[in-house]
Amino acid sequence: KNLIFSGMQPTNTLHLGNYLGALRNWVKLQEQMPCIYCVVDMHAITADAGYAKPKELQAAIREVTAAYIAAGVDPARSILFKQSDVAAHAELAWVFNCVARLGWMDRMTQFKEKSGKHKERASVGLYTYPTLMAADILVYKATHVPVGEDQKQHLELTRDIAQKFNNDYSAPDFFPQPEPLILGTATRVMSLRDGAKKMSKSDESDMSRINLTDDADAIAAKIRKARTDPNPLPDDEKGLEGRPEAENLINIYAALSDESKASIITRYAGQQFSGFKNDLAEVAVAKLTPIAAKMRELLADPAEIDRILEKGAARADEIAAPVIKEVKALVGF
Ligand code: ATP
Ligand code: MG
Repeated sequence: KNLIFSGMQPTNTLHLGNYLGALRNWVKLQEQMPCIYCVVDMHAITADAGYAKPKELQAAIREVTAAYIAAGVDPARSILFKQSDVAAHAELAWVFNCVARLGWMDRMTQFKEKSGKHKERASVGLYTYPTLMAADILVYKATHVPVGEDQKQHLELTRDIAQKFNNDYSAPDFFPQPEPLILGTATRVMSLRDGAKKMSKSDESDMSRINLTDDADAIAAKIRKARTDPNPLPDDEKGLEGRPEAENLINIYAALSDESKASIITRYAGQQFSGFKNDLAEVAVAKLTPIAAKMRELLADPAEIDRILEKGAARADEIAAPVIKEVKALVGF
């Protein structure tokens, strides 16, 4: 039985990468399969950006929920809830901590990137983040996971964990092998300041990303100041090789306007970036500012957002409870 699960961390506001890489696809997928969309607050405390900041975390949970709904996630149809409300996530994550091998975890590039030079100062939670993510997905026996390119490795680990559990506990086919759905032309949106880094909520520089809550002036300013090389736009797609900043802006344009990269490149061939950036800003403002307006409307009634999350948690728990019960029986608890 097909079932979608995906989530985002409530650290800061969602940005254009979250929108183009994931959220936008979540909305469309509601037409195809039942969907469970989670605000993964337990993941948010794994890093400094969300740790020991209870007021900010609570505000970010509501803001991310509002962003989901404003972008088109329908809480009457899809299950929309927050992770910490369904205890089965944490319970299954513990079992998976014992299924996963250190050698597997040591290969995770996100941990290496996020822990940086001082690995010993990273939280243990940041290290075991991928086993919690595997539990998030598998506690619903979800089959499809719409995410950005950066989560591909964690999905592979999830599949490995599912397979090893099934095998070690002699329960063939108990957990499915969930498939990543990496869809669209902007599956890895890069930082506006550095074409080698992905756009992230946790980047210190606000100029590196376009937030879903940015107003028209902020969006235009960030695009105008986005880094590019000194050359004009290329004549063809091959001309983008070795030009990650240029490629990123064209990918963003293509994704936001639902136009092919090729036709955009043909239109702007040989032109300077300034004109292209003005047009891109216009496209971005038209697409994003209505979402921001809708978010503001929703955030004016935080109690209603809390009620939506509570109802969603009850529905999620109904699916997760029998699965965790079976897991406990299989494990011998
Ligand atoms: P953080 O820096 O805190 O990890 P993040 O920006 O990576 O934040 P997440 O909450 O970790 O956001 O990810 C939410 C979803 O957005 C995931 O599906 C992830 O793959 C996707 N995503 C994140 N950044 C990008 C990006 N730059 N381009 C495309 N998709 C992205
Ligand atoms: Mg991330």
